[in-house]
Amino acid sequence: MSQWIVDVMGDGFGQATQVDDLLYDHQSPYQRVQVAASARFGRMLVLDDAVQTTERDEYVYHEMLVHVPLVSHPAPRRILIIGGGDGGTLEEALKHPVQSVTMVEIDGEVVEVSRRFLPGISGGAFDDPRTRLRIEDGVAFVRATTERFDAILVDSTDPKGPGIALFSEEFYRACAGILTPSGVLAAQSGSPLHQRSLMEGISRHLSAVFPIVAPYWGAVPAYPGTLWSFTFASAATDPRPSPDEVFRRISSRGLGPLRYYSPGAHHAAFALPSVP
Ligand code: SAM
Repeated sequence: MSQWIVDVMGDGFGQATQVDDLLYDHQSPYQRVQVAASARFGRMLVLDDAVQTTERDEYVYHEMLVHVPLVSHPAPRRILIIGGGDGGTLEEALKHPVQSVTMVEIDGEVVEVSRRFLPGISGGAFDDPRTRLRIEDGVAFVRATTERFDAILVDSTDPKGPGIALFSEEFYRACAGILTPSGVLAAQSGSPLHQRSLMEGISRHLSAVFPIVAPYWGAVPAYPGTLWSFTFASAATDPRPSPDEVFRRISSRGLGPLRYYSPGAHHAAFALPSVP
């Protein structure tokens, strides 16, 4: 059987990946959840027809979403992940000497399916004693929690369905209220090529709340157009420690194995290519 997953970005553009087998296909209370097997990317998690992560290139996205903010922070101990159902962000966050990682994912079916069909992406992170998994709406959690976090990583779907509220100024303001004074936030912020207005809107909403806002990028071939953006925000922490300091923090924290992130990649990521 051969079919194609077509990840449509709107504006007349999409990216198609040929799949050899559909291993899972079910409508959860929140979204259509699929796992497809492809020669090009291995197994892929697809939600509402959008490619979320693949065995072949998940490390790029997860290393860049996690290590740029966490290495920028001098000593991150309490981490909050919003979304991230596949567990890749959780796995990378646990490479740091953290006290706890709280992961708030609205759809438990994504976690179950990822653990079953894509175990290599979370690499056992769900069973780490520092992991605190909560299946609930991230917006409600940040409004209600009395905990404080050194870093918030927003690993959400694109702004549709339950993900829409995770891109609002109101949500970012609530996040600012539960960060420690030197706390950092990073959010996946879409394609710099094909979702420029989304990316600019995220920067605008974050800039209404945080004095330091800086978009950065990584190369994720499974995402339409490959270039993908993330946006860093903080009240007091600069996202660009010197390359020597980045190297020192990677070494002193024993981070690894890392396959994409490095001191050079950290700094190059903030040089956004000017794109048509
Ligand atoms: N890396 C992927 C990307 O950039 O497209 C995202 C990975 S992860 C699969 C996205 C997760 O966000 C999904 O599991 C989805 O259920 C979750 N999500 C969406 N809205 C949410 C909300 N309001 N609260 C918590 N999780 C949410």
